[in-house]
Amino acid sequence: MKSYRKELWFSTNQRRELINITPAVEEAVHKSGVQEGMVLVNAMHITASVFINDDESGLHQDFEEWLEGLAPEKPYDQYRHNTAEDNADAHLKRTVMGREVVVAITEGKLDFGPWEQIFYGEFDGKRRKRVLVKVIGE
Ligand code: ZN
Repeated sequence: MKSYRKELWFSTNQRRELINITPAVEEAVHKSGVQEGMVLVNAMHITASVFINDDESGLHQDFEEWLEGLAPEKPYDQYRHNTAEDNADAHLKRTVMGREVVVAITEGKLDFGPWEQIFYGEFDGKRRKRVLVKVIGE
């Protein structure tokens, strides 16, 4: 069995951003040489997500507004977690949006359904954070 590991690093300009990381995952799969297998992609931080959805700007705005409705960033003092930190909302948003995705690899390619794309969801950015990509298979 082959295995390949890569870290993708991000430093967003804004506190919250959604980044399409599909090309970087495809590159890792290509470098792994795996034709039949799986790729795991997970955020390595508890205030960021990896998820699969549509690369459509209206939907991304909908995610932002929906998540702010569920767990508004401010006022910071509404959260018990925000004593030394101000990122309780980011922990909650990450939990809703998920930690990781697993995608099948078939004939060397990501075996997606229609419109599926992989996103890094940053909820407490402006600092260096990373995503793990682990490819296994034959
Ligand atoms: Zn925190």
